[in-house]
Amino acid sequence: MQKYTLDNLQSSIPILPSRLTSRYNKYLLSDNWRRKRVKVLRRDGFRCTVCNEGNLLEIHHLSYDHVFVEKLSEVCTLCSKHHRMVHRSGNGDVEKEDIADVA
Ligand SMILES: [Zn+2]
Ligand SMILES: [Zn+2]
Repeated sequence: MQKYTLDNLQSSIPILPSRLTSRYNKYLLSDNWRRKRVKVLRRDGFRCTVCNEGNLLEIHHLSYDHVFVEKLSEVCTLCSKHHRMVHRSGNGDVEKEDIADVA
């Protein structure tokens, strides 16, 4: 199973182009995303890929290059604590769209 460190994740926070925000918010509610989210959770063993926590899991995007048709390698499972820590670091640029992306 792929493991990440906070440093890894913080050093490469992708930015979703703002023109895609509203489409992205709808996408997060879609069956398509729900199915993908379950696949990601299953792949990661329903554990945070940083700390192994099994509660309050969210999906984090490693890249938005294929947003809406993400490859499974472009997303990972994080607990809500680590997800917040990843986004709070960066350039202070919290992406609430992605934070809302709760499992
Ligand atoms: Zn964690
Ligand atoms: Zn995220």
